[in-house]
Amino acid sequence: MVHFTKLRLHGFKSFVETTELAIQPGMTGIVGPNGCGKSNLVEALRWVMGETSAKRMRGGEMDDVIFGGTGNRPARNVAEVQLLLDNNDRKVPAQFNNANEIEISRRIDRGMGSSYKVNGSEARARDVQILFADVSSGAHSTALVSQGRIGAIINAKPIDRRSLLEEAAGITGLHSRRHEAELR
Ligand code: ATP
Ligand code: MG
Repeated sequence: MVHFTKLRLHGFKSFVETTELAIQPGMTGIVGPNGCGKSNLVEALRWVMGETSAKRMRGGEMDDVIFGGTGNRPARNVAEVQLLLDNNDRKVPAQFNNANEIEISRRIDRGMGSSYKVNGSEARARDVQILFADVSSGAHSTALVSQGRIGAIINAKPIDRRSLLEEAAGITGLHSRRHEAELR
């Protein structure tokens, strides 16, 4: 399992100023009053791993993740999230980067869409999604269950439940790679 070490947000939802969250081993929860941004943090994690659905980010369109302004602060036009991974045990496939630390970043410019980087080099959304599928985590991973999803899992059709089991078994990465190969 790769260890996520740091999440950095800038202009993302309610996190208008640069905010860094150190993810230390053993962290078990985020607590805070209603509306303080706990779910926004988890969504930032999902977003940087390649989430493509604005709805799953609780928005109407993807630009809604950009800080939209408050009574005394103007809206921003850029949101950025960076996720740092500890890669000392080389769990991230070498094609992405063979460094001890991997930084994945995603940025969205209002009206312009998203761009991704892996350790400073431009990457496609697909590359980032495959990277996380290979390390068995990711935007749609069973490891991230949002409020309301538990019922959906219980009521899922067998085929959908199978994909959850495949994800848990760590073979989703193989499917992503097969799909990628078929597209070529
Ligand atoms: P709860 O305990 O109720 O689940 P929470 O800590 O999970 O609360 P979030 O849902 O993460 O809270 O944060 C909600 C806050 O984020 C709201 O105040 C909302 O206005 C703010 N917010 C969401 N999107 C944006 C945006 N694009 N710009 C500015 N603020 C935003
Ligand atoms: Mg919440």
